[in-house]
Amino acid sequence: MRWVFPLWVCLWPCLAQGALTASDVAREVREISLDPGECYRVRDLALPKDEIRLFFTDGYLIFAKPVAGVRMSAVFTAEVEAGDAELLVLPPNRGERRSLASYIGAPNLDEHLAAAVLIFSDDSYAKLTEQIRQNDANRKSPEMGAMMAEHWTPVVRNIAGSFQARLVWDVLLGEPQGHGFLAVSMSGKKLGNFDLYYDRSAREQIVIGKLNTRDNLLFFDTWTSFVAKSYRNRPIEPDLKLDDFRIEATLQSDLSLNVVTKVKAKPSRATLPVLAFDITHPMRVSAVLVDGRPAEVLQRESMRSELLRNVGNEMFLVVPPTPLEPGKDYEVEFRHEGNVIFDAGNHVYYVGARANWFPNIGLQFAKYDLTFRYPKDLDLVTAGELVDEHEEGDWRITRRKTSAPIRFAGFNLGQYERVRLKRNGYTLEVCANRAIEPGLAAKAQAMEVPPVPRHHEPEIMILPELPPDPEARLQEIATEIASALEFYAARFGPPALPTLTVAPVPGRFGQGFPGLIYLSTMSYLAPQEKAIRSLDAHGRLFFSDILQAHETAHQWWGNVVTSAGYHDEWLMEALADYSALLYLENKNGSQPVAMALDSYKANLLQTVNGQTVESTGPIVLGLRLENSQTPTAYYNITYGKGSWIMHMLRRRMGDDRFLAMLADLRKEYERKPLSTEDFRVLAARFLPEKSADPQLEDFFDQWVYGTGIPSLKLSYTVKGKAGALRLNGTVTQSDVAGDFSVLAPVEIQLGHGKTLTQWVRTADGPVTFSVPLAQAPVKVLLDPNSSVLRR
Ligand SMILES: [Zn+2]
Repeated sequence: MRWVFPLWVCLWPCLAQGALTASDVAREVREISLDPGECYRVRDLALPKDEIRLFFTDGYLIFAKPVAGVRMSAVFTAEVEAGDAELLVLPPNRGERRSLASYIGAPNLDEHLAAAVLIFSDDSYAKLTEQIRQNDANRKSPEMGAMMAEHWTPVVRNIAGSFQARLVWDVLLGEPQGHGFLAVSMSGKKLGNFDLYYDRSAREQIVIGKLNTRDNLLFFDTWTSFVAKSYRNRPIEPDLKLDDFRIEATLQSDLSLNVVTKVKAKPSRATLPVLAFDITHPMRVSAVLVDGRPAEVLQRESMRSELLRNVGNEMFLVVPPTPLEPGKDYEVEFRHEGNVIFDAGNHVYYVGARANWFPNIGLQFAKYDLTFRYPKDLDLVTAGELVDEHEEGDWRITRRKTSAPIRFAGFNLGQYERVRLKRNGYTLEVCANRAIEPGLAAKAQAMEVPPVPRHHEPEIMILPELPPDPEARLQEIATEIASALEFYAARFGPPALPTLTVAPVPGRFGQGFPGLIYLSTMSYLAPQEKAIRSLDAHGRLFFSDILQAHETAHQWWGNVVTSAGYHDEWLMEALADYSALLYLENKNGSQPVAMALDSYKANLLQTVNGQTVESTGPIVLGLRLENSQTPTAYYNITYGKGSWIMHMLRRRMGDDRFLAMLADLRKEYERKPLSTEDFRVLAARFLPEKSADPQLEDFFDQWVYGTGIPSLKLSYTVKGKAGALRLNGTVTQSDVAGDFSVLAPVEIQLGHGKTLTQWVRTADGPVTFSVPLAQAPVKVLLDPNSSVLRR
């Protein structure tokens, strides 16, 4: 569908002639002000956008003065006798209605508004002025306009400023590209201040939520977020396809980086007069060349829109000397510099922007050729196969190339001891710091950071009072990771890249990039070290065994198979975590797996404000679970419940079928996005024949799209004569909502190793079942192998 607006048509020629630069437009956005001559007493204006209904029933509406010829803001106030405005939003599915209800107490949004500030680059201005013109009751009111302009201009400037790069992008791109958005910050009569976004270029066009703080951390609590009605079933692809990154970075002795990044760029659909890239805040882009010709660069931070995009990145714009044509290849060269490395002391370093230290667009698979020049007393590692390493005076130069496309290229540095191992054609290099970083207080919980970049970094935790010998365990870790690599490769197929480098990161977390793992310095400590001994049993298991096996598994889950979106990110974490548990089970028996699952369950059943952590929301909410109310819910649900979901699937399938499913998943979704529904369909193929719930729809409804951990109880009697016995049993479920229902196994042990398993579907209230038996059972047990996540 094409949207045509006369406004843009007349604006476009003057931009195409280069009359306006990006920085001109940006300056005008920063200086935006309301226009007292464009204030109206309005009645019954409507601004419908798919599932959104916004009504300005009675009040005053003032527009901002044009920026680059475009009016991009308006303010409504209901400060008149019987003044009113109303917002109605009906989320399209049960999950989103439930999410909304968990924040505002109602499944649909119906709120009366006292005031609203609108920022837009879509057709909102045209829609509003058309209605104003059509109704004589809507009159100009310059007196009110003067008052409103004075009161509201600073607010409009503040909000527009946080959308600066985006507004400039949209103005320069022009309307035919369909990138327009509407952002409304409003003051609700019941709900207080909250925000609504309708963004045509977003993966989910409609987002409603509220900025909140907790413990000085800023959260955007997403009340609801979904694909708008008119965008369903449309494929999403980036405007600009990037490939063949060639990065040359010089690391100065003050740890700042000077980088030249070259990349091939190809517009996929439309002519692009302006390009938008992402990069981390501390990196400043000083120059950009497109096919050797200088382009204009506009870079600035914008908090509100970045929080919404959830990537910890800053958008910057590049205006090439002439627009890029679709289907043609261009060479874009960036010069950028900044400091993304933190010195923890003793030549231990922390790389802050691990994924976004160079310009990129989204998470595209691309090949990389990486050259680093750095002081020769340091060691520096990065992804790919080693092409060259040599010294020039005080410098060392390392060049690596990736043999397969990857989604992000990280690096790490220190003064390392290294162990190299070769196993089945794979090269593993594990690095340890020669010294331990000096002690600082350790306070955060153990964690792991998903390979996909997140919007806030884990705090850097540095260890207290440790013996200066982290390399002691180097050989042991190297052997361990090599075994995990071998275990996974034998079962799942080849990893993301044939060479894997593991290097330490000061902190209590790990992160698995393609070909490069950042491993917590805690994991380099021997189990008898004080810092490890002082942890609880799960903490010891986490740092000594799970973390490195989990990060190694990300070479498959997250770096070969990738998630389709934030709703599906749990799959990568659950697969990586459960793969780690499978590896540990193979090595050490079932006890560590049972311990990890028990500890995950305990965390899920912890209560916050009388509610279990698990009930915060379904696992598919992804990062939205990390809200201001329950900041630990994301971690505990994604990892803990995710592992349980994999475990329950394994019990439904049996071990051989479960492993066959993982191998098939790796093969079928190689460098392809995997959605939760894709996974359900694939997993269902591996259920034993004649299984109940053959498409796993009920399983996913309860465990993936729903919440709840039941208590289950079994009672039974055996009656009849030998040869014609009947076992009558009852399974009673409690502690969950009335519509909760799962398949639970009842194991009937008949002696001499013979068992019969009866799957019983639970329901609200007792459920009875009856099984004919030829002989009396020795034992009848409900779920003896932890096949169900239950209390
Ligand atoms: Zn992970």
